[in-house]
Amino acid sequence: MESCATCHTQKIAIIGAGAVGATTAYTLMLKNLAAEIMLIDVNEAKEEGEVMDIDDILSYVETGAIKGADFKDAANADIIVLTAGAAQKPGETRLDLVNKNKAICASIFKSIGKIKPTAIIVVVANPVDIITCLVQNISGLDNSHVFGTGTSLDTARLRTEIGKALGVSAQNVDGYVLGEHGDTEFDAFSTVSVGGILIKDLKLPKAKLYEIEEKVKNAAYEIISRKGATFYGIAMTVADIVEAILFNQHKIMPLPVNLNGWNGISGVCLSAPAVLGRQGVEKVWPLKLSGSEKRRLQKSAKAIKKFL
Ligand code: NAD
Repeated sequence: MESCATCHTQKIAIIGAGAVGATTAYTLMLKNLAAEIMLIDVNEAKEEGEVMDIDDILSYVETGAIKGADFKDAANADIIVLTAGAAQKPGETRLDLVNKNKAICASIFKSIGKIKPTAIIVVVANPVDIITCLVQNISGLDNSHVFGTGTSLDTARLRTEIGKALGVSAQNVDGYVLGEHGDTEFDAFSTVSVGGILIKDLKLPKAKLYEIEEKVKNAAYEIISRKGATFYGIAMTVADIVEAILFNQHKIMPLPVNLNGWNGISGVCLSAPAVLGRQGVEKVWPLKLSGSEKRRLQKSAKAIKKFL
């Protein structure tokens, strides 16, 4: 890959060395995205074991160091990735985690202290939309520097399924899953195109689109019921976000950002297409949703506002 001049001085702190945190560290290193990675977990043995295991790839990658660190060290990181918290058990929804993970998140930011103002925080812990709103309130950073992974992972899943259905690369599929990263999320089919052709003109049967939407929405449940956790896809999603920040790509990605009138929604963090670069979220893309998609966005907003 192209080398990144600023990556050679960038420090990334990953809070939580569980399945998602450790896989994210490994993925960022394989993609040569940081000079130094700090793993931080309350479970010191787990943190140490992951650092020792990942240390073994240092002679193959450009990253200078991966090390265990304290919460206070995260205050000087360029990017903080928040993965600490309870994960869904089979049958649990993401919203079931809200109270536990709100408390964990609050205690973490208290321990970190004052974060440098240029830092960017990427929230992964679920329910990601609610935790993003909370971190915006307690981190002391500008809202444009605090966002989550949101429906980026769901969007990757949608692109894969549509690519498979049409026999083309997922990379030729454009368009988004929007709203809550959870049960009220929706595939915004009015935004989907493949190789320049709108999905509505590609004559995929309605039943197939419905099947794809259900598969995307339920993917985490299906994976968790078989192997207990999801971590490869989300690790690559975080790497994609980190890459957009460090290379100042101005890339449009569906991320939970605090909406201010976007398609009629305000005062809540929900995934909308956001332009992402080194300064964080530069703006929300002025995409106009269809009437039924707007209603589904409202449903997501209602589901999330209950918990704020
Ligand atoms: P995990 O149980 O494997 O790891 C969680 C880690 O957090 C553990 O190592 C635990 O010791 C640590 N932890 C708990 N409290 C902490 C604290 N106060 N400070 C530091 N570390 C602490 O779980 P996981 O599978 O890695 O999932 C982590 C989170 O990511 C969950 O909330 C999960 O739902 C979420 N997740 C989000 C997405 C997404 O698309 N946004 C995808 C997958 C998982």
